[in-house]
Amino acid sequence: MVQLTQKAKLVDRRQMSWLERIYLWNILKGMMITLSHLFKRKATINFPEQKRYFAPVFRGLHVLNRDEEGRERCTACGLCAVACPAEAITMEAAERLPGEEKLYREEKYAARYEINMLRCIFCGLCEDACPKDAIYLSQTFAPSNYSRKGFIYKKEDLLIPNPLTDPEDYKKALGDRPAKKINN
Ligand code: SF4
Ligand code: SF4
Repeated sequence: MVQLTQKAKLVDRRQMSWLERIYLWNILKGMMITLSHLFKRKATINFPEQKRYFAPVFRGLHVLNRDEEGRERCTACGLCAVACPAEAITMEAAERLPGEEKLYREEKYAARYEINMLRCIFCGLCEDACPKDAIYLSQTFAPSNYSRKGFIYKKEDLLIPNPLTDPEDYKKALGDRPAKKINN
């Protein structure tokens, strides 16, 4: 028979000796492998107490950003949804009403904003497309869930805490990858 590789080994079919039949040597060999791993560096970490280091370019869960005054930056222009190759973003625009200037930075805002995390490939094109620095991918990741519905992230899930009323959570959500500042 023609062999494609030299990896094939003939099966040893000879009768085992008494010593081989009690598998003592094999058990010892197995235990030695286990023992050798006790002194090696652990491949796992104690999550969530310990966190892995993420490279600065890591793209994780999306954050809908606010400005320094706590106003929502998103103007519901739809550019992120157009840029998204996975068609994961859905939104509905609404007009800002008089008296809502402290809530929304622009005259138009996203009344509904959803990202389907099961579709998302975390490419970051939505962040690149956004002219208002309203969306960016943070260094956290989407936690597991029991249902598909749980992976549809709504505006309330994505919106960053208000830096004026909740500075600590705002900083935490911003992470090590702060969004670029814009002045327009
Ligand atoms: S990261 Fe990429 S795939 Fe995910 S929502 Fe943004 S553009 Fe779409
Ligand atoms: S996140 Fe940015 S690109 Fe997307 S709708 Fe809002 S302002 Fe436009």
